[in-house]
Amino acid sequence: MKSVLKYSASLALLALAGCEAGTPSNPLLKPDSTNQTATMKFPLQRTEAEWRKILTPQQYHVLREAGTERPFTGKYWNTREPGIYRCAACGEVLFKSDDKFDSGCGWPSFSDLAAQKKVLARDDFSLGMHRIEVLCANCGSHLGHVSDDGPGPKGLRYCINSASIDFAETPTNKPNN
Ligand SMILES: [Zn+2]
Repeated sequence: MKSVLKYSASLALLALAGCEAGTPSNPLLKPDSTNQTATMKFPLQRTEAEWRKILTPQQYHVLREAGTERPFTGKYWNTREPGIYRCAACGEVLFKSDDKFDSGCGWPSFSDLAAQKKVLARDDFSLGMHRIEVLCANCGSHLGHVSDDGPGPKGLRYCINSASIDFAETPTNKPNN
C-alpha cells in the first residue's frame, strides 16, 4: 500500500515536472520581481482574514498560499466555451477563451493574457525547479506559472489553476434592438 502511494506521489510530481519544468529562456519571461520575500504592492489590498471570508478553502489555498490543484481535477482544464476568465479573488479579467488551448497537462492553459500587464511574474524556486510564478496584477493572488513552450506567436504558456479563475460565457443570443 505504501509503495502504491509512493508511486502515485512520484507520478504526480513527474506530471508536474513534465508540465512546468525547463529553465525559462524566452525573453518575454523576464520576472517582474526576483525578490521572494519582497512585499509587492497591489492596487487591491485585503487582509488574509478578509480573503478567508471571501474565498472557499480550496480557492484560499491556491490563491493565497500558492497551492496547486491536482491535474485534471479543476473545473476548467477541458472547457472550450467562448468567454472570459476572471481572477477568482478580485474579478479582474485575466484570460480569454480565444487564447485557451489543450496543453495536455491537466490545467487550463493560455497562450496570452486578456490584456497586457494583467499578471505579474516572479521567480519561483520551489520543488527544486526554477519556474516563473504568475500573480494577479490587481490583487496579488497566485494564479499558476508561465513557461516558454506555448503555441502562440509569443511562445508562452500560462498554466493556471482552475481554482484561481472564474469563467463567464460570452452571451451568444443578444437581442438586436
Ligand atoms: Zn485578482
